[in-house]
Amino acid sequence: MNEKFSKAAIIGVGLIGSSLARALREAGLAETIIGFDQSADVRARAVGCGAVDAAVQTLKEALGGADLIVVSTPVGAVAEILAGVAKEAEPGALVVDVGSVKGAVVNAAAAISTRAFIVPCHPVAGTEQSGPEAGFAALFRDRWSIITPLPRQDEEYLAAVARAAGVWRAVGAHVEIMDHEHHDLALAITSHLPHLIAFTLVGAADDLESVTEAEIVKYSAGGFRDFTRIAASDPVMWRDVFLNNKAAILEVLGRFSEELALLQRAIRWGDADTLESVFARGRTLRRAIVAAGQEKDVPNFGRDEKD
Ligand code: NAP
Repeated sequence: MNEKFSKAAIIGVGLIGSSLARALREAGLAETIIGFDQSADVRARAVGCGAVDAAVQTLKEALGGADLIVVSTPVGAVAEILAGVAKEAEPGALVVDVGSVKGAVVNAAAAISTRAFIVPCHPVAGTEQSGPEAGFAALFRDRWSIITPLPRQDEEYLAAVARAAGVWRAVGAHVEIMDHEHHDLALAITSHLPHLIAFTLVGAADDLESVTEAEIVKYSAGGFRDFTRIAASDPVMWRDVFLNNKAAILEVLGRFSEELALLQRAIRWGDADTLESVFARGRTLRRAIVAAGQEKDVPNFGRDEKD
């Protein structure tokens, strides 16, 4: 039986916040869904597109009476919002965030005192779009949501972790629980490094004076365009990811540079065996991702042939 909330407050009504708002409504989990965002324009658009029932102008108004609080701003704003939670949230309220980095959120939660229950979460689901119109209820379906609990073992807190897991399951996600250090390292390799590579590739193409932008666009089907989808992601969100997951990203970046140097050497010396064996690992991993239902088994990423 899913827990029903009387008032869900969505703080930051962008892609993820508005998707969760829609999913909560679709699953019948909240009687009222209120949005708060720093931007008046986003607040109006969130109501206009039906993502939330109403939007309020202050964090205090949003938090008052809320029994479910979703913090869905960029990671850099989470500490300030949790400080507001410490002052204004109702005792017993369940507070989940959705930030892509968890160590920073766990540390921010540890720095405040509140009778609400903060459960750091990361739904591993998203698109390159931003804003309230980009959200959709099915975003979390069959995706993983990772919970990185605070270092507390009391019964009340463990019950709150179970409540948060219940919310994610009710919107169609699978739940995994792990410590925040492990999360930040795992996501550094599966999400943060791929974004860094995509941003770097697009930057390198932009700087290549002898190849024109028109040519890059024209021949992008050779692989480049698939990186541009990732590189089109929200710059503020990604700025905060790299500022807040420094150690883990530098660790995986070091390993990536070593792999790159290995391939550079293999190309220089015509080492066919090394090239082939490194490239073959790509197919094996791709098959495992498809077999796990995290991607559809369609050629060309499901694009029409004419695309
Ligand atoms: P988004 O579409 O840009 O939405 C974030 C919203 O938060 C924006 O409307 C922003 O307003 C607002 N905001 C920023 N600071 C605020 C503050 N102090 N108080 C109130 N509102 C504030 O971003 P998103 O993609 O939904 O990402 C939100 C969170 O989800 C991030 O922590 C991200 O790491 C995480 N996440 C993202 C994805 C993904 O693929 N996008 C996946 C999983 C998790 P302005 O536009 O005016 O700045």
